[in-house]
Amino acid sequence: MIAISHARAAKPQRKVDRASHPEDTVIDLGGGVKIGGGHFQVIAGPCSVEGDNLLTIAARCKAAGATLLRGGAYKPRTSPYDHQGMGERGLDLLLEARAQTGMPIVSEVMDTRDVELFVNRGIDVMQIGARNAQNFALLKEVGRTKTPVLLKRGMASTLEELLMAAEYIMSEGNERVILCERGIRTFETATRNTFDLNAIPALHHLTHLPVAADPSHATGCARYVGPMALAACAAGADALEIEVHDDPANAWSDGPQALTCDEFDTTMERIRAIRSAISSPRGE
Ligand code: PEP
Ligand code: MN
Repeated sequence: MIAISHARAAKPQRKVDRASHPEDTVIDLGGGVKIGGGHFQVIAGPCSVEGDNLLTIAARCKAAGATLLRGGAYKPRTSPYDHQGMGERGLDLLLEARAQTGMPIVSEVMDTRDVELFVNRGIDVMQIGARNAQNFALLKEVGRTKTPVLLKRGMASTLEELLMAAEYIMSEGNERVILCERGIRTFETATRNTFDLNAIPALHHLTHLPVAADPSHATGCARYVGPMALAACAAGADALEIEVHDDPANAWSDGPQALTCDEFDTTMERIRAIRSAISSPRGE
């Protein structure tokens, strides 16, 4: 019998694995805003940047206790006929909101050709959306920058694929990656996606990177966002990303899942209650 050997060169040590870095990675965004290793932050704001209402929403999110502002200037839309984002003008508005509130800003980059623009404008965190979770060219491009990356799980990505996507970024030199569970596609149709809360403790076990959770895209329905934000918090999320709008019924994108500013106030109060009730959700 001929022995067939599948032996290859030893697997390289992956940067993403907890084995290569036993301590939690803490991502420091300046101004006292840190994510990971016990530091918890809430990222809030509209799905799309739409105009001056961003400034109103930003002020309300900050007053409620959010510490980072999100808003999409480049939007991945299922239909090419839907609003595609304000582009550079949207980035300008985010920078204006940052100047007014002091909150670091998070915005999605969709194209390798825009990465330099995001870096030059000083966007604090580049988001890679679920639809680009395995866009390896884009992952490598953001990996060549020093800007922290919020990497969303693809809608059909396993945790291993999510970790490998992070590895693409880290292997290029940028080790400041925040993973984000945002729901996966399953047979269930009553909600936009199925929130995989298992991902939170499982990722904390497998990797040292901070783990964020996005109950807005995970549920697709504003009335489920509050309860699932609390659940993600209790499961040990290092950050939450929540869509908030001053007028959800007229939002340019994702209105049905946006909390009003008042609803966000209440949700933040409850998040604080969960945080103080569960001082160490990972049971350490
Ligand atoms: C978003 O954050 O608005 C977004 C498009 O998210 P996702 O990539 O998770 O769908
Ligand atoms: Mn959205």
